[in-house]
Amino acid sequence: MSNEELTARWQGALMNNYGTPLLPLVRGAGSRVWDADGKEYLDFVGGIAVNALGHAHPAVVEAVSRQIGSLGHISNFFMSEPTVTLAERLLQHFGRDGRVFFCNSGAEANEAAFKIGRLTGRTHVVATEGAFHGRTMGALALTGQPGKRDPFLPLPGDVTHVPFGDAQALAAAVTEETALVVLEPIQGELGVVVPPVGYLKAARAITAATGALLVLDEVQTGVGRTGHWFEYQAHEGVLPDVVTLAKGLGGGLPLGATIAFGRAAELLQPGHHGTTFGGNPVACAAGLAVLDTIENEGLLENVKRQSEKLRTGIEGAGHSLIDYVRGAGLLLGIVLTEPRAPQVRAAAQEAGFLVNVPAPDVVRLMPPLNLGDDEVEAFLGALPGILDAAAASGE
Ligand code: PMP
Repeated sequence: MSNEELTARWQGALMNNYGTPLLPLVRGAGSRVWDADGKEYLDFVGGIAVNALGHAHPAVVEAVSRQIGSLGHISNFFMSEPTVTLAERLLQHFGRDGRVFFCNSGAEANEAAFKIGRLTGRTHVVATEGAFHGRTMGALALTGQPGKRDPFLPLPGDVTHVPFGDAQALAAAVTEETALVVLEPIQGELGVVVPPVGYLKAARAITAATGALLVLDEVQTGVGRTGHWFEYQAHEGVLPDVVTLAKGLGGGLPLGATIAFGRAAELLQPGHHGTTFGGNPVACAAGLAVLDTIENEGLLENVKRQSEKLRTGIEGAGHSLIDYVRGAGLLLGIVLTEPRAPQVRAAAQEAGFLVNVPAPDVVRLMPPLNLGDDEVEAFLGALPGILDAAAASGE
């Protein structure tokens, strides 16, 4: 089956909600993937951070195979050991007592956070402009991107959106009626937008003063992506009430989590919330393999090292199309001097590299956390040619 044939079949059978796929992929190993025509690519998208360990990592393959071969999922009226162990291990990495709710996606993790906030008895919510929290109606109500929201208005909730990174605007919006403030530590979908130093700490102080819950959406930044277990841990004096995770946590399987601390951990009561596949042992076994591998292979250190090499190499290329690089760890945005990110993506794909375009002037890199030296060098070596091709492209 060729790229062309698979794409034609896709067009006849799937809803076109993401636009026609860029490529049909048939195989992956580590940071490499192959399309249906047999062409090889280095995957610097990692399934938008979904594949923390790359494709077909032996630890994930082994854990998932073992678990599905012994106990699959029955229902949350029962329980299994991988679910409990994964919750305990996550809490260890937070270094705090708390409670975990498992689900299947980032949107679902944020829905649970939203509902936890409502259980405080308050209804007002503060979120940020440009934020992305998911596409279900509740998560979309938190999302601050008009293009994604507008076709679905009215959305639930009493949500005020304030400019991201502006502590004064946040302080002005949060009142004694505010149930929760939800923030991404870095706005990934908007183009890897990093807030000013001190913003998260200010958000913590503002919410603590009024009794609002501080919810950090670490769906994109969490689980080692930025070189810390969770990005907020890079910011002194920030202890959120709720953290949401998904993407990289499941090592390629659908797995989300809402982790609550302190009084927020006590709010959900039996009957308030649930989801059939949440906490299923197969996805949790994959999650444990991800955490084990990050620890055993020293991947937080690798993330920092490869991030530094990528940043220095990209900025050092001195190409006229590159303005600067922003982000943290292996969540990087190459900010261009012109809105030619789609052309860069196309030229990169031609050259055998998959990158992502969250904004017309930003190329996003989110490779697997175990990215190797040779893979970084291959990317940096190819970059000038890719940028030249993108600059010359007539499109
Ligand atoms: N929150 C953030 C910060 C995200 O980046 C995303 C996905 N891009 C989501 C939530 C939604 O996750 P999902 O697609 O798994 O629902």
